[in-house]
Amino acid sequence: MNITIATDRCIGAALCAMTAPEVFTQDDDGVSRLLPDGPQHARNFPVREAARACPVQAITVHED
Ligand code: SF4
Repeated sequence: MNITIATDRCIGAALCAMTAPEVFTQDDDGVSRLLPDGPQHARNFPVREAARACPVQAITVHED
């Protein structure tokens, strides 16, 4: 699974990190980031739900 975050669009709403906390985190400015091993956990956490929840559609999920 390939996950990308349009960090220039992210408004720091944190819904992604709350929905899939093993995949997403936020940096000191509140911008969403992938955890280093986040993509490994992507199949076990609701990454697509997190992408849908993002209010600015900053998360894109593609199957490998
Ligand atoms: S839900 Fe969207 S806007 Fe909020 S932190 Fe995640 S990527 Fe950024």
